[in-house]
Amino acid sequence: MAHEHRHKKSLSRSEWTALWFFFGISLLVWLFGEQLATALLYSPGSGIQDQVMFVRYKVLLLSFITVLIGLIACAVTVHIRLAEKPKPTITREAVSDIMLSREQFRQLYENSPVPYFLMDDAGNIRHPNIASLRFFGGTMEEVASANLYDLIADDQKAQQTLSMMRAKVERALPISREEMSMFGLDKQTEHRALVSIYSLSRKSPIPFKHLVTIIDVTKERESEQIKTDFLLLASHQLRTPLTTVKWYIDYLLTTKTVTIEDEVREYLEQIYIGNERMIELITTLLTVSRIEMGTLAPEYTTVHVNGVVKDILEELASEVQKHNLEIKAESKGDDAIVTDHTMIRIAIHNLLTNAIKYTPVGGTVSIVADYQPQVCTVTVTDTGYGIPPDEQEKIFTKMFRASNARKVSTNGTGLGLFLTKSFVEKLGGSLAFSSELDKGTTFTITVPRVAPDA
Ligand code: ADP
Repeated sequence: MAHEHRHKKSLSRSEWTALWFFFGISLLVWLFGEQLATALLYSPGSGIQDQVMFVRYKVLLLSFITVLIGLIACAVTVHIRLAEKPKPTITREAVSDIMLSREQFRQLYENSPVPYFLMDDAGNIRHPNIASLRFFGGTMEEVASANLYDLIADDQKAQQTLSMMRAKVERALPISREEMSMFGLDKQTEHRALVSIYSLSRKSPIPFKHLVTIIDVTKERESEQIKTDFLLLASHQLRTPLTTVKWYIDYLLTTKTVTIEDEVREYLEQIYIGNERMIELITTLLTVSRIEMGTLAPEYTTVHVNGVVKDILEELASEVQKHNLEIKAESKGDDAIVTDHTMIRIAIHNLLTNAIKYTPVGGTVSIVADYQPQVCTVTVTDTGYGIPPDEQEKIFTKMFRASNARKVSTNGTGLGLFLTKSFVEKLGGSLAFSSELDKGTTFTITVPRVAPDA
């Protein structure tokens, strides 16, 4: 509506002035045309023909002057128009438009299910919305006079996050979904929250320039915890009977007191293998839940990686034979590092089992341990099926198995690489890989030669 108003066709003051100027001067020119023509042209003689010629010239001259005055008036008007800045006009409609959008914004902010509030550099809270009041468990006055930094839990991890947060807030750097433990106003209720902060520029004169958003993930974390606890409990409970089965079969297969027919012995051996697989799977599941709970800490000792590799290769000899694979093992440099023996063993074991499992008959698997001054790298290369390029990014995801792997081996959990990566990272190292479909795959473990904080 404001637009229509501005475009209404009415002459401005300068245009009216120009129009009056044009008419006025033109009138004067034509009134005093005789004198003007005489002054500018010549005085006509008294002959009738001379008079007629003079009148013609006069009309021509006066028309020319009139057009000239018209042009000057137009030019001046255009100039003034261009020089004139359109004056902002605030109409009644514009004001009510602004009021309406302000009210809409206020309603959205107030009633959003996501807790929002503003904060100053020192962590003081202002303008909390209704969801924030629910989150902190207080009235508007109580929450608006609280300090966010005082509500962050006081365990060591939360305090570290807090000092990072303070530093970023002071520099007006954004914070995106940082997970932390946070108390309600009663200092009893504890929430897990994802906190995001968006700040205006540091130069902004507004004191409460940080907009804080909180996503309450307490329930999600609780249900994850219940799942992990259940997995832990179930695996513990399952392991005991499976171990008993293992002992009895072991006893039956080795004892001399009971005679077992060959056919039964074969069945028992199959049961034994199946049982071993179950125990292995349950041990893996237990380890995964320990990793997720963060209760798995490395125990550092001196480890001879060459010895570990030799040991694993002996264990896998029958599989290697079955696949008719060529194994090449190489070691460069002095063999001794300080690391967790079990973790590094499981990591190398997983890489070698995968290389054997995913390489067709007649292929080659090589393992190279390279001892550099700061780190030790263990590289496992195979000439196998490779990993399809579009599936490579998911390879370390828990329970992920590539499409080609599922075809060649039904036997797999998709937990091996997840465990390997978690272990290597716990040891302060990294796991890298490169793979080409139907050509082969290389995995490289890099671990520090000494314990990270030694
Ligand atoms: P799995 O029990 O299936 O072997 P892993 O976590 O060890 O589980 O490996 C996950 C997936 O990564 C495998 O299913 C397979 O698709 C792929 N993969 C791992 N190692 C290799 C390899 N050496 N060659 C080809 N694919 C591999």
